[in-house]
Amino acid sequence: MICKESEKPVLYLVVPCYNEESVLPETAKRLKEKLQQMADSGLVHENSRILFVDDGSRDKTWSIIEKCYRENEQIEGLKLSHNRGHQNALFAGLMTAKDVCDCAVSLDADLQDDINALDGFLKEYLNGCDVVYGVRSKREKDTFFKRTTAEGYYKFLKLLGVDIVYNHADYRLMSHRALEALAEYREVNLFLRGIVPLIGFKTGTVYYERHERFAGESKYPLKKMISFAFDGITSFSIKPLKIIGNIGIIISMFSVVALIYALISKLTGNAVAGWTAIIASIWLLGGIQLLSLGIIGTYVGKIYSEVKDRPKYHIDAYLKK
Ligand code: UDP
Ligand code: MG
Repeated sequence: MICKESEKPVLYLVVPCYNEESVLPETAKRLKEKLQQMADSGLVHENSRILFVDDGSRDKTWSIIEKCYRENEQIEGLKLSHNRGHQNALFAGLMTAKDVCDCAVSLDADLQDDINALDGFLKEYLNGCDVVYGVRSKREKDTFFKRTTAEGYYKFLKLLGVDIVYNHADYRLMSHRALEALAEYREVNLFLRGIVPLIGFKTGTVYYERHERFAGESKYPLKKMISFAFDGITSFSIKPLKIIGNIGIIISMFSVVALIYALISKLTGNAVAGWTAIIASIWLLGGIQLLSLGIIGTYVGKIYSEVKDRPKYHIDAYLKK
C-alpha cells in the first residue's frame, strides 16, 4: 500500500496518447473533474493523478501535456522516445505508475470508454479485487464493421483456447500487486488483454457503454487492427500450428489412398496420362506448404524477437509532481 491502511487509495489514470491534440485539452478537463469528484466523495486519495503517455506523437500532443502539467496539480506526463504502439505506451505508463500508486486504471485518450464507470472500478477494488475489467455492454456507437469484426474476433480467440474477457478492451483497473505481477511478464509482443487474465487474483467486472470518439480520428486503421489481432492469436495460442499438423496428417492419408488407386489403375491397364490432376495437385500441395511455412514462420519470428529481449520503450522525459 502506498497510502496508510486507513487512508484512501492513490489512483493513477494512465492515458496513452498518439497524435491526440484535438482531444487532449477536453480529455484533460473531463478527467480532472472526474478525479476531483472522486476525491471529494472520499473514494480516492487527494494525491491521485492523471498520467498522460505521449507515444512519440508528431503533432502538438506533448506541448499540450506540458501545458496541462504546469497548470494542474493532478496531471503528470511521460514522453516515449518514439512511437511504440498503444500496448507498449500503456505498459510504459503502468510501469511508471506502479511504484507510486495503489491502483491504476488504463483508458484511451478519446474517452470512448465511459469515465463514470470509474466509481464502479474503485468500489470493486475496495471490495478486494486486484483486477477490474471494464466490459462494453453495448457497442451501438461503433461502426457495424468494427463491431462485428471485434465480437467475432473475441469468439475466435476463445475457440483457440485463449483466456480472454469478452468485449473487454484495455479499460481496466489493476492494483499495485497486480502491476508488480505484470512487470514480471517479459514478452516483447505485448497483448495486454491476453496477459492480464494469466495473472490471476480476485477479479471484478464493471459494465459500461462505449461512446463515439468526440474529436480526431481512430489511430487504429485496418492495417494496425489486423496486425494487432494476428499478434493476439499467435502470442497466445499454438492451435494454428496443431491445425497445420492435422491438415498434414489428413493429406498424407489421402495421398496413400490416391497411390493405391493409381497402382490399381495401372495394374488393370486403365492408367490415363493424368496431366491435369498432377498439375492441380502440385498447385494445391504447394499452396498448403507455403501457407504452413508462413504460419510456422510467424512463430519463429516471434521467438526471434522474444529471445532478443529488447526493451519495450525508452523514456524521454517524465514530468512528475
Ligand atoms: N495509441 C497510442 N499509440 C499508437 C496508436 C494509438 O498510444 O500507436 C492510443 C491512442 O492515442 C488512443 C488509444 O491508443 O488513446 C486507442 O486508440 P484509438 O482510440 O485510435 O483506437 P480505437 O478506439 O479506434 O480502437
Ligand atoms: Mg478510440
